[in-house]
Amino acid sequence: MGKPIVAVVGRPNVGKSTFFNKIAGRRIAIVEDEPGVTRDRIYTEVEWLNHKFTLIDTGGIEPESEEIIPAQMRRQAELAIETANVIVFLVDGREGLISSDREIADMLRKSKKPVLLVLNKVDTKEQSPHYFDFYELGIGDPIEISSALGLGIGDLLDEVVKNFPNEEAEDYDEDVIKVAVIGKPNVGKSSIINKVLGEDRVIVSDIAGTTRDAIDTPFTDGEDQYVFIDTAGIRRKSKIKEHVERYSVIRSLSAVERADVCLLIIDAEEGVTEQDKKIAGFSHENGKGLIIVINKWDLIEKETNTMNQFIKSVRTELAYCEYAPIVFVSALTGQRLNKILDKIKFVANQHAMRVPTGALNEVIGEAMLLNQPPSDKGKRLKIFYATQAAVKPPTFVLFINDKELMHFSYQRYIENRIRENFGFEGTPIRFINREKT
Ligand code: GDP
Ligand code: GDP
Repeated sequence: MGKPIVAVVGRPNVGKSTFFNKIAGRRIAIVEDEPGVTRDRIYTEVEWLNHKFTLIDTGGIEPESEEIIPAQMRRQAELAIETANVIVFLVDGREGLISSDREIADMLRKSKKPVLLVLNKVDTKEQSPHYFDFYELGIGDPIEISSALGLGIGDLLDEVVKNFPNEEAEDYDEDVIKVAVIGKPNVGKSSIINKVLGEDRVIVSDIAGTTRDAIDTPFTDGEDQYVFIDTAGIRRKSKIKEHVERYSVIRSLSAVERADVCLLIIDAEEGVTEQDKKIAGFSHENGKGLIIVINKWDLIEKETNTMNQFIKSVRTELAYCEYAPIVFVSALTGQRLNKILDKIKFVANQHAMRVPTGALNEVIGEAMLLNQPPSDKGKRLKIFYATQAAVKPPTFVLFINDKELMHFSYQRYIENRIRENFGFEGTPIRFINREKT
């Protein structure tokens, strides 16, 4: 299971952005310190009572005209139903129930997903005068909050986490490599999946632990077991052209959450777009293995340096995932697609790799000798000891004398030394600094 996803839906003006920003506020301030990661308020990571989840805001689009609002609302609700584990359905407790609330409620009720009906703008201790009207929606007891004042938010989050799916339930066995093929519409995701599946791979429906074969595509390659996550979502072409960037980003989120390795497909003719950056950023922040796949390479007229120049521009645009290998393919001609599974397997292994503590401490000791740790006001950073605490992604705990002294640049230096010695290609690396007294 990936982290649960919670979506906020509701008609315009009920307070979705206000609610989202209230919850995101603190976290966004912290994340902005992280260099390179594009920040957009499509989603935010939330931690409540030891539960971590991703909150997404399906709204946030400026209505272009009055007529398209209903269509947009429906689209947002559909998106929430497709991607979220729990849906927060926001209505206006001051204005009361109106017909577009009913329309959204009908869709949500049919979805069978847990839905919390939330009356926003209840700014006082008194119950909303419209409280009982909302029972008509058939979504259970309304929960009252004020997003503007921050009232009732804690109780609401308690309810949200109670509705999470059982976190123990793993989708697939440990040995199954879970792959999310992500990217904008039309970059060639289905073509690539079809091509890979077409070549001698056996599509199986009995991989141990399979519970999701309706939406995923499990297959084997020799001894190796893989699953393409949420292929139904990729194959089900949206009837509405997804010109709204936000929608296709949100679509990728749940697949990324569940994956070990992400294949970010980029259209060679278009190069890296803002949308690609957001999706790559999500993979990075969630600690997933990442391979950058440049597709439609057949359409590019090549000169001596074309590939190198392309690599350079990808590295600049996606600077925070420089660990990700870049491969150039064509789903049309099949060029280099036969290598893609090997690459996926390799990155999955790197993502799950554990290094021995002794060797790790040797590398860090040597690194400190070569490049002295920074000091401040006469006090120098000391790293006493390091250990790898987790895999997927590889996570290192550094026991140090003073957290204040650990600068980003030194952390990066240590990371680079670790990568030079052990590899970890295709996976982000995390550090936890612990003060030892
Ligand atoms: P959205 O269109 O659903 O994203 O709604 P917004 O978050 O933009 O809010 C619409 C309006 O309602 C804004 O003027 C907000 O300031 C206001 N608003 C949002 N939450 C509350 C609340 O809890 N109490 C009050 N009084 N106003 C609110
Ligand atoms: P998806 O929306 O990302 O799943 O993209 P599709 O797989 O449906 O591909 C979108 C369009 O691009 C289709 O018309 C494909 O035939 C075309 N296409 C996909 N891969 C390639 C490629 O490598 N080269 C060329 N020339 N066209 C491609």
